Amino acid sequence: MAGIYLHIPFCKKACHYCNFHFSTQTTQVQAFVDAIIQEIELQKNYLNEPIETIYFGGGTPSLLNEVQLKAMMEAIHTHFKVATTIECTLEANPDDINLEKLAAWKQLGINRLSIGIQSFQATALAWMNRAHTVEQSHAAIEMAKEAGFNNLSIDLIYGTPTLTDQGLKEDLDWIQQYQINHVSCYALTVEDKTALKKLIEKAQIEDVDPEKQARHFEIVSTQLMAMGMEHYEISNFAKPGFRSLHNSNYWSGKHYLGLGPSAHSFNTISRQWNIANNALYIQSITNGQLNFEIEYLTEANRYNEYMMTSLRRMEGFDLDLIRTTFGQNYFDHSIATINELLSKDVFQQNGNQYSLKNEAKFLADGIASDFFILGLAPAP
Ligand code: SF4
Repeated sequence: MAGIYLHIPFCKKACHYCNFHFSTQTTQVQAFVDAIIQEIELQKNYLNEPIETIYFGGGTPSLLNEVQLKAMMEAIHTHFKVATTIECTLEANPDDINLEKLAAWKQLGINRLSIGIQSFQATALAWMNRAHTVEQSHAAIEMAKEAGFNNLSIDLIYGTPTLTDQGLKEDLDWIQQYQINHVSCYALTVEDKTALKKLIEKAQIEDVDPEKQARHFEIVSTQLMAMGMEHYEISNFAKPGFRSLHNSNYWSGKHYLGLGPSAHSFNTISRQWNIANNALYIQSITNGQLNFEIEYLTEANRYNEYMMTSLRRMEGFDLDLIRTTFGQNYFDHSIATINELLSKDVFQQNGNQYSLKNEAKFLADGIASDFFILGLAPAP
C-alpha cells in the first residue's frame, strides 16, 4: 500500500513563520491544476502498489474550487489502482470553510479534514499574520462537525511570544470542548528566509524563548493525554483509531508519490523532490517533462531516517528490526549508542523496542543525531 501527496502551492496571505513552498499570486491556479493532472499521468508508473491514502496539502488546498479538486481526484483514479477504503485528507483554512464546500468535499470522497487553526487567541493569530480570525475558527469547526467530518484534525502552534501558558491551556480546552479526535501541535521554529527571521534580526519582533517552548510542550502533552489522546508522534496526538494513516505511513517507510511543486517522493531506493517554483513547474509539465532532483539512498541514509522517525514516534525503534533490515554492524552501532546515552536516562524499554520517556521527547531530534552514521559509507 502506498500514498499520494498533492501540494497546492497557493495561499491568501503569507504567514510570518512559514517556510513551505507557496505563492500568494493566484492567477496561475488553473494552469497549475492542469499541470498537476498532467503530472499524475506522467508519474503513473512510480508506484506499483495500491493507493491507500491521498493527501491534499500545501499551501492551502481549500482555496481550490470543487471542479478543480474533482479533476485531480478523477485523474488519480484513472491512472492509479486506488484501494476500496482509503483515507483522503484535505488541509483547509478556517476562512475557506462553509457548509457548501464541506458538502462538496464529502461528495468527492474527502473523509478527513485538517484545519489550520494554529491558536484560538487573537493576539497569537495576529502575531503569526494568519488570514483568519478566532470567530472563523470556531465557525469552521462547528460547520465541519455539522457536516459529519468526525475524522477531524486541528493544527496548533505553541511557543509563540504572545501566547501565555494560560492562553495555551485555553486553546487545549477548546480541543476538549469540541471533542476533536486528532491534533497536530508544532513548536514555532524560526526558519531561514522567513519574514519572522527577518523581523527578529531587525529586532522588530520578540525572539522565541526555548524554555517557554519546552514548558509549552509539557503542557500540550500532559493536557492532551489527559483527554485520552495518544502522543503517537512528537507533534501528533490522536484518540485511539484516529491516527493519521498517511503520515504514519511516511514514518514507517512506506512508499509515496508527491505531486506539485516542491513535493517529495520516496520509493526506498531514492528520494526525489520537484522544483519549488510554480511557473517553472507548470512550464516543464506542460512540455511533458518532470522537473525534479533525486538522491539515491545509501544504507546509512536509510538507517539515519529510521532512527530519526522512530525516535519521534511512541513505539520507538526496534533492535530486532535494525538487525534484520540493516545488519549486524548497524545493530552493534545502535547498542553502543544506547550505552553511551545510558547516563542521560532518556529511554524506556519494552523487549527489543526502545522509545523516549515523556520528558525526553522534546529532545528527540538531538538524540536521533547521536545515532546518525555520517558520510557515504555503506556500513558503519
Ligand atoms: S497558510 Fe499555511 S502554507 Fe500558507 S503561508 Fe500560512 S502556514 Fe504557510
